[in-house]
Amino acid sequence: MTMEAATQNELLPEVQDFLNKEIHGAVIGGVEVMAADGGTFDTHDPGSGEKLATVANLTAEDVECAVASAQKAFNESDWAKMPVNERCVYLHRLADEVEKRKAIIAQIETLDCGKIYEQAVADVENFIETHRYFAGLAQNLDMRTVIAVKGHEAAVVRHPWGACGFITPWNFPFLLCGWGIAPATVSGNTCVVKPAEDTPLSTLYVAHLAKEVGYPGGVINVIPGIGEQTGVALSANPNLKRMSFTGSPEVGRMVASNCGGNLIPVKLELGGKGAAVIFSDVDIDDAAEKLVGAITFHAGQVCCDATRWLIQRDIYDDFIGATVDRLQAIKIGHQMDNGTQMGPVVSEVQRNRVLGYLQKGVAAGAETLLEGGTAEVSGRNGHYVKPALLAGSLDNVAAREEIFGPVAYCAPFDDEAEGVRLANDTDYGLANSVWSSDLARCRRVAEAFDSGNGWINSHNVVVHGVPYAGVKKSGMGGGVVSLETLLDYYRNISVIRPL
Ligand code: NAD
Repeated sequence: MTMEAATQNELLPEVQDFLNKEIHGAVIGGVEVMAADGGTFDTHDPGSGEKLATVANLTAEDVECAVASAQKAFNESDWAKMPVNERCVYLHRLADEVEKRKAIIAQIETLDCGKIYEQAVADVENFIETHRYFAGLAQNLDMRTVIAVKGHEAAVVRHPWGACGFITPWNFPFLLCGWGIAPATVSGNTCVVKPAEDTPLSTLYVAHLAKEVGYPGGVINVIPGIGEQTGVALSANPNLKRMSFTGSPEVGRMVASNCGGNLIPVKLELGGKGAAVIFSDVDIDDAAEKLVGAITFHAGQVCCDATRWLIQRDIYDDFIGATVDRLQAIKIGHQMDNGTQMGPVVSEVQRNRVLGYLQKGVAAGAETLLEGGTAEVSGRNGHYVKPALLAGSLDNVAAREEIFGPVAYCAPFDDEAEGVRLANDTDYGLANSVWSSDLARCRRVAEAFDSGNGWINSHNVVVHGVPYAGVKKSGMGGGVVSLETLLDYYRNISVIRPL
């Protein structure tokens, strides 16, 4: 069977072999290693609840070895010193190899994090494009910029930093691994990546692949483990030169505090509570279709999702009607099954979090427009939930806190100023969208959002080349797949000679 011929629900033999491994170790210095204390944890298929693999749970001592290995590769291998176009060859080779194994990686990703197969394929494609994008961008970057200053010869010269740490969440493990390692490595840095304990497998797979395509050992180290142990140790390591964290604001605060203690620059990509501001001149069916697609995409476990739907009062009932019908028709099923439109959430903990917010929201006075709850999928003991719609006061806990499930909170507004004010009345600031047939109004509203991203007549639009970052409780720094991110991975030295 060729990989192309494989359908999404036949497990590829390469995937079976990978999963059959007794214990998945870390990859440090290009070598697979187990935890110093022999500790492990299991990862499960969220759609069936069955165990997928056993993985090494790295200790603080192991984390130190990983950072030392990244430092050694930075200082002693050719990686940091080679011309950028030579490093780009490695990135292209990795992208080519990932492309050849797209179906294998997509199956591993789909099984480990519960996203439907087509979405896992899209994440793998994103990883490939990210590597090619940064390879192209880095080759055209001036490494030495001469500055014309009266009475001086002056230039700013760029250098890579050294060992960079990455801590990633479970919702987009492979895609976010690419967003981290591509800009870091192309600029000559080395990496230590800690994937989330719910979804370590695709990141481990890429560490082996990097070795296969010839990356020097120690350039890409992957250290699986539990957040409170492995993540804490990585964020507190004083030998890192930069840290990038993607995850919840609660953990982000702890990571930032650890990095602050060592004066290590940290980039935080955190949660969101995005709004969609829907005006009455919108095409109701089109907007309903797209927002239902957005809130059910990866079962709503998307940081930039539209989870507050602000609807102009005169179309409120029609819009709710159009979305309720569509949400009820969403086919919930195992992520590998044909026709599934929405898979499970990642774990029982996450399902309880979603169900808990529905209960807390209603207890605090929210009206239920569409009842969610546990969804049953025949023959599958997975973590399934139904989409839900709540409505009422925007001070409700379900309107203010990130639920991270297929739940939207609805409220009416009267005019443009009120729509913008309600959208901005949140602790978060990642992404909002505006929906109207009046494009001048769309631009005006999008530019008035107090968030890193403002989208027009669409939601979840993340485009290579355009910065994507959050403000307020959604994070700081960053830019993701854009020039801003690449520049972050160089330190500057200003060289001046008085004439
Ligand atoms: P999380 O914060 O629980 O975990 C993220 C990572 O941190 C995991 O690898 C985890 O093991 C590690 N971790 C846990 N405790 C730690 C500690 N004390 N010290 C160091 N590391 C620790 O987040 P999650 O539940 O995996 O992911 C969901 C969150 O991520 C949501 O809030 C979502 O909005 C956010 N997210 C943001 C973006 C973005 O680009 N802004 C993208 C994806 C996800």
